[in-house]
Amino acid sequence: MEILAPAGNLEKLKYALLYGADAVYTATNRFGLRAKAGNLSLEELKEATEFCHSLNKKIYVTVNIFAHNRHLVDLPEYVEDLEKIGIDAVIVSDPGVFQVVKEHSNLAIHISTQANVVSWKSAEFWHSLGAERVILARELTFDEIVEMADKVPQVELEMFVHGAMCIAYSGRCLLSAFFNNRSANLGECTQPCRWKYFLMEETRPNEFFPITEDEFGTYIMNSKDLNLINRLTDIYKAGVASIKIEGRMKSLHYVSNVTRVYRNVLNRIQEGKDIPESFIEELNNVSHRVYTEAFYAGFNDQDTQFYENSAYIRDYKYIGKVLHKTDNLVKIQILNKFEVGDEIEIIFPDIDNDIVFTVNTLYSEDMQKITFTKPNTNAFIELQGNIPEYGLVRKRI
Ligand code: SF4
Repeated sequence: MEILAPAGNLEKLKYALLYGADAVYTATNRFGLRAKAGNLSLEELKEATEFCHSLNKKIYVTVNIFAHNRHLVDLPEYVEDLEKIGIDAVIVSDPGVFQVVKEHSNLAIHISTQANVVSWKSAEFWHSLGAERVILARELTFDEIVEMADKVPQVELEMFVHGAMCIAYSGRCLLSAFFNNRSANLGECTQPCRWKYFLMEETRPNEFFPITEDEFGTYIMNSKDLNLINRLTDIYKAGVASIKIEGRMKSLHYVSNVTRVYRNVLNRIQEGKDIPESFIEELNNVSHRVYTEAFYAGFNDQDTQFYENSAYIRDYKYIGKVLHKTDNLVKIQILNKFEVGDEIEIIFPDIDNDIVFTVNTLYSEDMQKITFTKPNTNAFIELQGNIPEYGLVRKRI
């Protein structure tokens, strides 16, 4: 079973792979949803593809807008460029885009969750047209997924296991287009489902009445975040081809940490080992909303929405990444400030290697002793001994 991680930019793509993803999905600045994610230029996509393939891993590119006639003008050339670069598949939701990809390339096609596949017959339909994989709608129960895997074993099934949810049917949503003229279906969602809503009678413009569904009341469209880590054993046994982590807009720390948790837990499942509770709890150490298992065991609306607010839970501040380690110094590219006396953590792809220590001595890049770091500089911390590669540094808030 493949672990598929989001890659909002080249750096996140590399860390997602180094932290345990088997494949990444990304977009260029054309034809993919998530217009505000970093997104790659074609040159960067080429570099990304070469990096993925050097590790024997895969890269998929989203071309999942709902295309109007005007979008079709440049699409054939774009599809041909993607094929020349050598990506492993395109992710498509619109039948017109599907047709263009078929006519202008031999690229493998994955059907996007935006296509709302919720039955084995629908999966069979897309496969009969030439799709290799179907990314299931998030609105399916586990039993439905098991039945699909059983009935259409010839179709690769991919399912979301972690990340933000939409209130609308797998992203088919008009809220953002309606409020801001920014269409979610063209990758420009401004997330109005997270806003706080009141009721106003049209002739009393300054009187706002709270909307109350229950004792919490107001964030009626704010979904909790999906987290299926505790269901991974069953998902693994069900015959799902790929498990997907949402979040091309998320931080480097988020993508790396969530990916490694799923990697470390899946490794232990495959080796028949116990899973330490601390591995599961790592998912609380990234910025997230309250978690839910959503539709997994059947729809339960008391468990899927969070009515109090739409704020993220943040227990850690990401400080930066380890650039280099000598015998007694570790060089860090600083993103956020920390100071002498702080307790900090360095995390690594293997959770068992994580270290926690107090910063006693700190140097600037030109080896002057300093008491605190400044963002967007490099600094050295005194630390004896070896550490693994690709460390990320964070501090509990
Ligand atoms: S407004 Fe909310 S529900 Fe609609 S597409 Fe955006 S994130 Fe999804």
